[in-house]
Amino acid sequence: MVHIDVDEGRCDGFGFCEQAAPEVFGLDDDGVVTVLLDDIPDALAEKAEAATRACPVAALRIGR
Ligand code: SF4
Repeated sequence: MVHIDVDEGRCDGFGFCEQAAPEVFGLDDDGVVTVLLDDIPDALAEKAEAATRACPVAALRIGR
C-alpha cells in the first residue's frame, strides 16, 4: 500500500494526475486535486507513482 501526500497550494489544476490515474486522483469543483483513495492498493501503486511524476508543479508526493 502507498499513500499520496498533496500540497493543495501548489496544485494548478492541470489534471495530468487525473488523466494518468483516474482511479486515484480527481479534481474538485475549484479545480484542485483530490485523492480518491486514502491508501492506494499495490495493484495501483505503479500507476499512482507515474501520475505523481506527471505533475508539472510537484504537488504530489508518494509515501509508504
Ligand atoms: S497534475 Fe499536479 S497540478 Fe495538475 S491537477 Fe494533478 S496535482 Fe494538480
